[in-house]
Amino acid sequence: MTAIRTERTGDELKSLAESAGRDLEEASALEILTWAAETFGPRFCVTSSMEDAVVAHLASRVLPGVDVVFLDTGYHFPETIGTRDAVEAVMDVNLITLTPRRSVAEQDAEHGPRLHDRDPDLCCALRKVEPLEEGLTAYDAWATGLRRDESPTRAGTPVVGWDEKRRKVKVSPIARWTQADVDAYVAEHGVLTNPLLMDGYASVGCAPCTRRVLEGEDARAGRWAGRAKTECGLHG
Ligand code: SF4
Repeated sequence: MTAIRTERTGDELKSLAESAGRDLEEASALEILTWAAETFGPRFCVTSSMEDAVVAHLASRVLPGVDVVFLDTGYHFPETIGTRDAVEAVMDVNLITLTPRRSVAEQDAEHGPRLHDRDPDLCCALRKVEPLEEGLTAYDAWATGLRRDESPTRAGTPVVGWDEKRRKVKVSPIARWTQADVDAYVAEHGVLTNPLLMDGYASVGCAPCTRRVLEGEDARAGRWAGRAKTECGLHG
């Protein structure tokens, strides 16, 4: 195993991300995660929306006890919180829950109720983007479950890329997977999934901004449906 360096400049990280993105384009998810674990060690984490635990499961195979970061916006479905609790109970991961600075009640008092209906970009900024940015300061690299087949906005997702906004390496080990690949991995390894996936939801986010998808819609069509918004700001 190569020695893990714990202090790298942003330019070094960017260069690492760009070369790994090229070198690992054809690599398997486990190979990509092995590279991340060997390169960053404890300065690498997985972020999970608890739609499923596929990337957390993959990462725990190459880095047992890996940090898995979950953003509790205060607006999640009970099924999502239950999935988080089950992942923490049964998987070899260190589950870390991030919360926004303000509770939903405090946000309502400051901005008025149902900010998600009136200004979802601000709501996402306060409840997702800000806490994630604070939570990621301890890491040089983070893994996501982004896949190219999820939506046109994600079609160009690199397996390893540079997150300029946060100055971190962003690893998407299953970027090249299809939904069928995910389903096969879940079945083979008995991976935990959010029960809402069996109830018509194809992508699970905050309850006020998520609906079931209709036949023929892409997986993320149920997120902020009826609005131009397609991403929460974590990946854009
Ligand atoms: Fe707010 Fe909706 Fe964004 Fe969740 S997804 S943070 S409820 S706007």
